[in-house]
Amino acid sequence: MGSLNIENVKKAFGPVEVLKGINLEVTDGEFVVFVGPSGCGKSTLLRVIAGLEDSTSGRVVIDGEDVSVTPPAKRGIAMVFQTYALYPHLTVKNNMGLGLKQAGTPATEIDRRIGIASSMLSLEPYLQRRPAELSGGQRQRVAIGRAVVREPKLFLFDEPLSNLDAALRVNTRLEIAQLHRRLKATMIYVTHDQVEAMTLADKIVVLNAGRIEQIGGPMELYNSPANEFVAGFIGSPK
Ligand code: ADP
Ligand code: MG
Repeated sequence: MGSLNIENVKKAFGPVEVLKGINLEVTDGEFVVFVGPSGCGKSTLLRVIAGLEDSTSGRVVIDGEDVSVTPPAKRGIAMVFQTYALYPHLTVKNNMGLGLKQAGTPATEIDRRIGIASSMLSLEPYLQRRPAELSGGQRQRVAIGRAVVREPKLFLFDEPLSNLDAALRVNTRLEIAQLHRRLKATMIYVTHDQVEAMTLADKIVVLNAGRIEQIGGPMELYNSPANEFVAGFIGSPK
């Protein structure tokens, strides 16, 4: 299971309100993409869902349970960042397993999950290497693998392809799409790239200055943008 309800979520940093009342329903297994210009609040919304930021008001509900004050580690969420956020001194294997180890998962179970994830992500040859010995694409696959082994209800991706060159971006995007098909997990994916949004999403959420401009399937937004902002950002030329 991995449904998500965001109910009138607002977030202010001091006097500046960066989320101005977000309402969103995500059903189990959906691939939802947040798009919008830099600074519109995409990362903040993702961080509120993950519990890395507290909202100023509103509720975050996962599988029917209000998790608004639940600590990040207890929300059943795994997040993948643009910068990978790997530990340089740990091997690939230990980077992937650290969270499970800290949660008290038995070593045999950790190994089993790392085996499955590293096979899915073609990481078997690299398990004993350290991040510095890997390419950017391999590092991002390790970060994705670390999320997979946690078997989260919800995957959150914050611009995971932004630091990769063009060819790797396409490759890694296809791998994420394949992972979604295999795991049938709920995924929320932030990007400012229209092509990523159009190709990955079941549903696109267009954000602008802390508000949702439109929610819809890729073709729906493309063919019937609700306003000029959506048209300019994603819609077909008028
Ligand atoms: P996006 O991910 O869409 O580029 P962000 O969610 O990172 O946008 O940021 C939205 C706005 O909130 C920006 O104006 C940013 O400067 C501001 N902001 C984000 N995090 C903080 C913070 N910790 N303190 C103050 N302002 C912040
Ligand atoms: Mg961001």
